[in-house]
Amino acid sequence: MPTIRACYACERTFEPSRARCDCGEPLWRPIEPLDRWPSGAGSSGRSIWRYDAVLPASQPAGDLEAGGAAVWRSHSLEGYAGTHVWLADEGRNPTGSFKDRGSAVGVAATLEAEIDRVGTVSHGNMARSVAAHAAAVGIDCTVLVPADIAEERVRAIARFDPKIVRVRGDYGRLYYDALELGRRHGIQFLNSDVPLRVAGQKTLAFDLLERIPDLDAIVLPVSSGGNASAVWKGLLELRAGGLLESLPRLYLTQAAACDPIAAAFQSSRERVDPDADVRETVAYSIANADPPSGTRALAAVRDTGGAVLSVDDDAILEAQDRLARDAGVRVEPASATTLAGLRQLTEREEIDADETVACVLTGRGYGGRGDVPSAPVVDREDLESTLESA
Ligand SMILES: *Cc1c(COP(=O)(O)O)cnc(C)c1O
Ligand SMILES: [Zn+2]
Repeated sequence: MPTIRACYACERTFEPSRARCDCGEPLWRPIEPLDRWPSGAGSSGRSIWRYDAVLPASQPAGDLEAGGAAVWRSHSLEGYAGTHVWLADEGRNPTGSFKDRGSAVGVAATLEAEIDRVGTVSHGNMARSVAAHAAAVGIDCTVLVPADIAEERVRAIARFDPKIVRVRGDYGRLYYDALELGRRHGIQFLNSDVPLRVAGQKTLAFDLLERIPDLDAIVLPVSSGGNASAVWKGLLELRAGGLLESLPRLYLTQAAACDPIAAAFQSSRERVDPDADVRETVAYSIANADPPSGTRALAAVRDTGGAVLSVDDDAILEAQDRLARDAGVRVEPASATTLAGLRQLTEREEIDADETVACVLTGRGYGGRGDVPSAPVVDREDLESTLESA
């Protein structure tokens, strides 16, 4: 296992304690060329641990089974999507999002390094995921949340009993402060783009390619850019070892209310600048105005010939309803951006009707339209006539 960290952009390498390259970009574990399909013979089940040969931890630390997404072709959404669409439901992970892939590997590798404290900077899915994985193996977990966090969010995280600290001040900066403080105080922070997390989350790329024949494109919601980096890295490792000739195009989706990566893509900029004009969006899980791996996500898109799309809240909510009503899948609004984005792409004919596209439904979460449709109230003796007239 390599013990150095590498920059995707300028190929410099550093010791593992470094988080960023001299060029400013995030580091990851060096690309490991895969010349054999990574799910080993000894592996069982569908969890990420069937890829144990290429993970930076040798075995799961606890019993939570991360990964093993349900992946299926959705015939019922084909008309709406405008092409052959496959769904990958990451909502079936232990805490309801793909974050569990990274948390599982992060916690296992941390224990193997004989560190018994983990942490994260998050007030959403990642906070719950890291806290749950720490709880499952009985180690300390510190979650740094913004001081003005909503009560229901704290409650959802507190269920797993981590140490929650509400921090005043620039929450974006805290991401970097935490990595530094963690190093000094023996806490392995598993923030959204730390190399251990990226290493766990890259298994999503393997799941997709293993299950979907002739995959042309992947549509993935993006916020910090950590997961887009992870999927890209999985693809690069397959290509580096000769298992993949050309990469599926990576299309990333953002909510129009907070879309710094889409803005950089659309204006052909090299780097992602913070979004200075952020509004509220239903897709709160992807509302990072200053994404730490934004520029890397942009590189992934350019390398694979994809695009970054911006979708408005109405389109997101419509796609969320379609997923539930036509395909029977309940996702949070952030994940519905994929179907909304795919519809944009096929309408613009950037994706053809005969292509094969995977929408990654990243999480189950909460949120969406609040209105409850009216349901009639009837007496028992009137039920039969009600059903007849329905
Ligand atoms: C975290 C998250 C994302 C965004 O992933 P990044 O790695 O931050 O880009 C997308 N969807 C859901 C449901 C998430 O929880
Ligand atoms: Zn660099």
